[in-house]
Amino acid sequence: SDGEKLELATIDESSKISFPLCMRNLHEGLRKEHHLKHNGRLQLGLFVKAAGLTLDEALQYWRTEFTKNMDVEKFDKQYAYNIRHSYGKEGKRANYTPYSCLKIITSNPPGAGDYHGCPFKYSDADILQRRLQTYKIPNDAVNEIIDLVKHQHYQIACAKYFEVTHKSGEGTATINHPNQYFVESKRFLNG
Ligand code: SF4
Repeated sequence: SDGEKLELATIDESSKISFPLCMRNLHEGLRKEHHLKHNGRLQLGLFVKAAGLTLDEALQYWRTEFTKNMDVEKFDKQYAYNIRHSYGKEGKRANYTPYSCLKIITSNPPGAGDYHGCPFKYSDADILQRRLQTYKIPNDAVNEIIDLVKHQHYQIACAKYFEVTHKSGEGTATINHPNQYFVESKRFLNG
């Protein structure tokens, strides 16, 4: 149903409620920098596509931010092609599968100025802690998440983040895919 598809008009709200932390991080990075580097564009772009953004919505999503720092001609020349390509509208119609947690956690570690990757794996514990507090995660849950992260249980930490942000009380066992997270969130919200 409509309520389960990601809509461009409500993407800011969705990013706070239904995006896992990695995608929220990328979305907020895009809004802040009006740009994302290659790996970030891929990680977020394939996620929003699989979550339901149409090609037109995706083009508008990226264009709105990127053209705050560059003219439309440059955007169309350098970036729009790749977005259309990822929707199979250009080139050899490759099937671009959105990245799993395993792929995000084990490949392409983020460097300075990067927003991609899994924040549970790559953020310093104190930065992660402050961010979760900013997001109004209760302190006992923050401590539990930090402890899971220290023991390298990133996907269980992600499930805990889901549990507290949705007040689901159930305890999702683990998160294997950012789009699984999104689908479970929508299902939960739609009752
Ligand atoms: Fe994203 Fe997976 Fe990390 Fe959660 S565990 S933040 S969904 S990469």
